[in-house]
Amino acid sequence: MSANPDSADIVVVGAGPAGCTAAEHAALGGAEVLLLERKAEIGVPVACGEFLPSVDEIKSIFPRARDIETLFDIPTDLVSLKIDRMRLYSPGMRLFEIPFDGYTTDRDRFDKHLASRAVKAGARIATGCTFLTVDDGVVVTSSGRIRAKVIIGADGPLSRVAASLGLPKNRSLYPAVTAQSNGDFEPIPEMYFGNAAPGGYAWIIPKKRGANVGAGVSPRFAKRKIGDYLKRFVEWKGLNISKPVGKYVPMSGPVAKTVARNGLIVGDAAGHVMAVNGGGIPIAIVCGRIAGETAALHVSKGLSLETYERLWRDQVERPLRTAVRTEALASLCFGSQWRLGAAMRVLGKRRIGNIIRCRSILP
Ligand SMILES: Cc1cc2nc3c(=O)[nH]c(=O)nc-3n(C[C@H](O)[C@H](O)[C@H](O)COP(=O)(O)OP(=O)(O)OC[C@H]3O[C@@H](n4cnc5c(N)ncnc54)[C@H](O)[C@@H]3O)c2cc1C
Repeated sequence: MSANPDSADIVVVGAGPAGCTAAEHAALGGAEVLLLERKAEIGVPVACGEFLPSVDEIKSIFPRARDIETLFDIPTDLVSLKIDRMRLYSPGMRLFEIPFDGYTTDRDRFDKHLASRAVKAGARIATGCTFLTVDDGVVVTSSGRIRAKVIIGADGPLSRVAASLGLPKNRSLYPAVTAQSNGDFEPIPEMYFGNAAPGGYAWIIPKKRGANVGAGVSPRFAKRKIGDYLKRFVEWKGLNISKPVGKYVPMSGPVAKTVARNGLIVGDAAGHVMAVNGGGIPIAIVCGRIAGETAALHVSKGLSLETYERLWRDQVERPLRTAVRTEALASLCFGSQWRLGAAMRVLGKRRIGNIIRCRSILP
């Protein structure tokens, strides 16, 4: 690390999956890295369904993404429960059981694990430190000013780093809320579409003990607050839950530009989310690595930061764009329970399975 605490080669903002992975790979590339996190404790509170696709599923969704085995080599104690299928319920409660491999995790421990990998690689972490703005190339935080050669914005859907660099904002933000429930659950995630969560879905995602219960809705179709949908859902299912935690999911797909001046954005900040299901952890990690490696090569060898934009688009953009198009088509049905139910029935289990894997339903 630098002898000067007010400088670093690379400042990464946000210690979620994107920021921790970027910090790890920037440090592995030989850069002096400072990872800033506004929360006092990494990963807390959990605002996530805590579901991850298996390595094979990630490869099948993002066939051009590199090094998936290494990136998703997760310690077995972070796997809460293995999953081999999902149950999707249409508004009329028609069941579609879709084979899908994955696992649930404890997201707080998951993020802490990624942060520990960054530290092991040589990155320094400052928690309780909020990024405020960039002033004349200097990173301004709640704890002081930091001179940096590169800034990586991994600060989530409402990215301040993106705004400071003049990069585009996420256009469409869906509110989502999640909580933990005790009790015994079948080891099969359940997703409920229709009035339970208009334009989105309500879920029960089982873990080793209990389940993650939540809902996400489209602001275009929801008539109530997101918390009211979750309350109604848990009442209907007869569940007891912990205090819900809410957050936004960026659903408009990747933003048009992710590099400007001496900075770049990654993860939710860049719209790296599958619009068909709201999942973003795999893409945050894949693109976080590209961000960290490119930033380190920029510092050591003068590689253009634009390389990051080219590489991540090559590896993950196509399935993300397909998902945005499919979500736009689905929006034509979300206004009517009947239309949505009919569309699910016509699509059937195989095509619904393709949709959740970001594949096109059009020939
Ligand atoms: C309710 C819900 C359920 C979800 N379920 C799933 C799921 O089951 N599977 C899945 O793959 N995805 C899921 N997602 C999406 C997933 O959580 C995100 O895509 C993923 O967390 C993105 O990682 P990230 O590192 O880009 O951002 P984040 O995880 O949001 O991390 C950003 C970090 O930046 C910090 N930060 C923000 N602003 C500042 C600042 N100014 N200064 C310093 N630090 C800052 C934040 O505190 C946070 O720690 C869910 C999302 C929600 C809201």
